Amino acid sequence: MAKKNIVTDPLMDKLVSLCKRRGFVFQSSEIYGGLGSCWDYGPLGVELKNNIKRFWWETMTHRRDDIEGIDAAILMAPQVWQASGHVDGFTDPLVDCKKCHHRFRADQIEGKVCPDCGGELTEPRNFNLMFKTFMGPVEEDAAVIYLRPETAQGIYVNFLNVQGPSRQKIPFGIAQIGKAFRNEITPGNFIFRTREFEQMEMQFFVKPEDDKKWFDYWRQQRWQWYLELGIRPEKLRWHQHGKDELAHYAKDAYDIEYEFSFGWKEIEGIHNRSDFDLSRHTQASGKDLSYYDEETKSRFIPYIIETSAGADRTTLVCLADSYREEEVKGETRVSLALSPKIAPIKAAIFPLVNRDGMPEVADKIYHDLKKHFKVFYDDAGAVGRRYRRMDEAGTPYCITVDGQTLTDETVTIRERDSMQQTRHKIAELVDIVGARLK
Ligand code: ATP
Repeated sequence: MAKKNIVTDPLMDKLVSLCKRRGFVFQSSEIYGGLGSCWDYGPLGVELKNNIKRFWWETMTHRRDDIEGIDAAILMAPQVWQASGHVDGFTDPLVDCKKCHHRFRADQIEGKVCPDCGGELTEPRNFNLMFKTFMGPVEEDAAVIYLRPETAQGIYVNFLNVQGPSRQKIPFGIAQIGKAFRNEITPGNFIFRTREFEQMEMQFFVKPEDDKKWFDYWRQQRWQWYLELGIRPEKLRWHQHGKDELAHYAKDAYDIEYEFSFGWKEIEGIHNRSDFDLSRHTQASGKDLSYYDEETKSRFIPYIIETSAGADRTTLVCLADSYREEEVKGETRVSLALSPKIAPIKAAIFPLVNRDGMPEVADKIYHDLKKHFKVFYDDAGAVGRRYRRMDEAGTPYCITVDGQTLTDETVTIRERDSMQQTRHKIAELVDIVGARLK
């Protein structure tokens, strides 16, 4: 049985427990003791992650004319991974401690002894990160296929399939969101590094001579996206890959890093992949993946600028960046100051008390708003406790029906971060809440 999901960082501990308490994220197969580094998204978590993916999709496809979307299969012909270099090169150097038998990635530890017990380490040996499985009923070498370790290859092999029908001309891009699998040696830090995760990748095909221009453009666009997501800019920084770090396909690469409680870590990679991918697939498949430029009457293999982000990692960034603790009237108030645009629940509706016609009015507001946004009805317990529950869920607005509502058709809207309450007409609620979600 794999090691359990052990998290030792204080902020991460609090996040893991909030996520379990409020139904964001649970340990996979928990009733059986959990499966190492695998996590399930609960009712609030799936909304949050879907909202992040939707915001990425809207930014990268709907708002643009030069990017098309696809959804390729997870299982691909094994030759894809030969040509891409993954069968030979997608490895991490693995070392074991001879004393406590803990396992590490040699490139992630400093020094030559075990960071846990100081014991002697084995020599590094390369470990391929791809999960293997068998296609069809026979478990033999000829039937081996892989779970994709990245979504990018599904885009490259479909380059001409997309370009033809969409009538896109270079420069243009193809975007995809989907699951990827890596048999990571040292997964951990909650949903930061898992063996099954989702990627949000976009591959932009350009003329070789324009690569630098588009690389700079996409770096700037992707940085901006995190700001629009509501992430604090002081928690973001660039890391340029040095010569020794560059992947085999990359001409230049920058990571956007976020300052987690466990250090500065990559959240997205922006890579200039040169003509490596389309050249390799042309050679290996025998199908010409070059592009004919009508204007210049020339044929060439496009360069690719890749933006590669993780949906789960971004979800963790949003949770960690928005986590707040403060003293309010002698009690600790915990809240998630999530951008309203990605908050799982946009507004909660409460009758102040369960009588005097208040529940009926609140129920009607709930059903009206439900047609527009994800909303939640709560009439259980004191209103203060209901506010606190919604603070932890990251709900930006709580709408309360009180005695005054029955006389003038107004309600209070309580804003999560300031805790300020203002009165508004019921008829204006859809517009008011809607305007604040953009
Ligand atoms: P690392 O060095 O952290 O292993 P990487 O450089 O291999 O990452 P890429 O191959 O560039 O990562 O993947 C692009 C993005 O996919 C990462 O920035 C991250 O957001 C996400 N990602 C990669 N591996 C994982 C994982 N094991 N769990 C969760 N997300 C991941």
